[in-house]
Amino acid sequence: DQLISQIAAGEVVERPSAVVKELLENALDAGSTQISIRLEEGGVKRIAITDNGRGIPPDQLPLALARHATSKIASLTDLENVATLGFRGEALASIAAVAAVSVTTRTADAAHAWQIIGSHHGAVSPSSGAYGTTIDVQDLYFNTPARRKFLKSEQTEYGHCAEVVRRIALARPDVSFTLSHNGKTVDHWNVCDLAKRCAHILGSEFAAARLPVDECAGPLRLHGFVGLPTASKARADGQFFYVNGRFVRDKLLVHAVRAAYQDVLHGDRFPSYVLALELDPALVDVNVHPSKIEVRFRDSRTVHQFVFHAVQRALAATSA
Ligand code: ADP
Ligand code: MG
Repeated sequence: DQLISQIAAGEVVERPSAVVKELLENALDAGSTQISIRLEEGGVKRIAITDNGRGIPPDQLPLALARHATSKIASLTDLENVATLGFRGEALASIAAVAAVSVTTRTADAAHAWQIIGSHHGAVSPSSGAYGTTIDVQDLYFNTPARRKFLKSEQTEYGHCAEVVRRIALARPDVSFTLSHNGKTVDHWNVCDLAKRCAHILGSEFAAARLPVDECAGPLRLHGFVGLPTASKARADGQFFYVNGRFVRDKLLVHAVRAAYQDVLHGDRFPSYVLALELDPALVDVNVHPSKIEVRFRDSRTVHQFVFHAVQRALAATSA
């Protein structure tokens, strides 16, 4: 049973950044508006995420750590219409199988916080703590040394974690984020609008040369900003695409944007953009891959055309 958990965990939790992603999605699903992420040694030593969300009632604390327990799916049809980010109910259980985990949480109606340590077998005990939840993950892969060997240097693992935070922070300017590494605050983003969040995360060059996108066609809406490739420094890491709130790196979408840039992009420059596509969840399958980075559209041609034309029109606004 333990071995099976550890193997299953490997698929969900392939490296520290995957833990960061799962915990951040849970914090957002809980309605948080303030999230702090503390990392030590690239996240391998510690990932502690504190949110001000609705918390977990004490009687549900063991369930939160149990496999296939989710509070987010009430029926099978829900599976096709997931509005929340997480719905498989395996992230916390998987993390707890390969790391030392503690969850400290306090709901609005609780007189004090409660804590559970270790696994769903752990005892739930009273604790101190503010409203919201802290999930503290220490010594990732301490019990699976083979997996630990696959980890890269502290800086590389930290870089992946920071990238996950950037992706999520760009999608949620309505939430404040604080990121620290080895005791130092690295980033702090207050609640703001998307334009400001883009400027903070993508830099002033992007902010100075960006064009707004906001188009609708039937069930499709695309909004965000496309950057003009006037910046002296080409950034290979300035492409952010979201589908129904999730960051994706999807061939079809990358291709559509790239094609729209054809006439304004010269040489080896990369287009920078932050684009969010919203559509009826029934028209898109986000269930394709465990890391949920690829998507499958019911009607991919229509989506491609729509994205292509919307971006092309936005970029044409400068030459007019
Ligand atoms: P899923 O997100 O797929 O439901 P997880 O294993 O990620 O599964 O989380 C299990 C459950 O724990 C969630 O359904 C939720 O009820 C609870 N939970 C986890 N993190 C938080 C959090 N930060 N705030 C409130 N509830 C949480
Ligand atoms: Mg989750």
